[in-house]
Amino acid sequence: MPTALITGITGQDGAYLARLLLARGYTVWGIVRADDRPASCKLGSLAALRIENDVRLAAAELRDTASLARVIRDSAPDEIYNLAAQSSVAQSFDTPLETGEISGLSVVCLLQAMRENQPDARFYQASSSEMYGQARETPQTEDTPFYPRSPYGAAKVYAHWMTVNYREAYGCHASCGILFNHESPLRPEQFVTRKVTTAVARIKAGLQSALVLGNLEVQRDWGFAGDYVQAMHLMLQQDTPDDYVIATGEVHSLREFVSLAFQVVGLDYREYVQSDAALFRPAEVQAVVGANGKAARKLGWSPRMKFEQLVEFLVEADIKRVRKDESNIRYVMEEAT
Ligand code: GDP
Repeated sequence: MPTALITGITGQDGAYLARLLLARGYTVWGIVRADDRPASCKLGSLAALRIENDVRLAAAELRDTASLARVIRDSAPDEIYNLAAQSSVAQSFDTPLETGEISGLSVVCLLQAMRENQPDARFYQASSSEMYGQARETPQTEDTPFYPRSPYGAAKVYAHWMTVNYREAYGCHASCGILFNHESPLRPEQFVTRKVTTAVARIKAGLQSALVLGNLEVQRDWGFAGDYVQAMHLMLQQDTPDDYVIATGEVHSLREFVSLAFQVVGLDYREYVQSDAALFRPAEVQAVVGANGKAARKLGWSPRMKFEQLVEFLVEADIKRVRKDESNIRYVMEEAT
């Protein structure tokens, strides 16, 4: 049976991907920070999916090729998924250099460690719709030029092109998934979807009275993380490595998201939500929508969860979380994936 190695395994995508691979019989290894003892690092996402005891964790430093090489030699992976990143666009404006190192430069350490120790492994790079930034055309395809608008987006462009370069220069089986926003109950609350759905659950329970957001007119192409990790896996099953846009193709404003989320609990968002210019970004990506035709044609991939279902799913999960009914959160999450 194949072996996979995942960086960022304790994050949202890492946990969903690990669960998918375990279900297919893979041995799954995950890299955790060298300064976190594997026994004590945060396993919340893995625990929420009840797989924390099924994955093998190894400590390594993402910016240290030697420590990555050790893990690659120990695990001998058939597939490597690079999901580790400083993944918050908002935070990247405060920590541009660290974001560049983690989300950009470190991919080269991993590619180099793979090339020297496990050259036949297949490699997945988590590229991002944030690379399109001030998009040159709509919808965005694999051929749309990049125009990043944040330190995060710029770091991801570097990592993307280095992955393409290892493919073209050294013949690595390396693919990039250009993923548009993808959400789940495992998304941290610093992202707007969970910030909204947690607030809705708390307001409904009488624990909070208002919700302050930034720009409500921004638009996004929001999908479900559980659907998107399937695309990652499919990319590495192809004979030829390539790059794919993974998106729903549907665009919705944050105002629509908020309105629907409050509707789920029978409330009118206008009575609770304020927009505060202090929460606007220094530079904003105004509208992002992906064309998923290539993924549909070549991978046979399409998203299963629709926008309305996603909003309802996130709100319901947060209502259960607010009620502190952990087992139910897990139940809801399993049902939907
Ligand atoms: P991103 O698309 O990767 O930056 O994901 P986010 O979930 O952090 O943000 C999505 C969009 O929501 C961005 O355009 C933000 O500017 C916008 N937004 C508006 N208000 C907020 C807020 O209070 N928090 C966050 N995180 N985003 C907000």
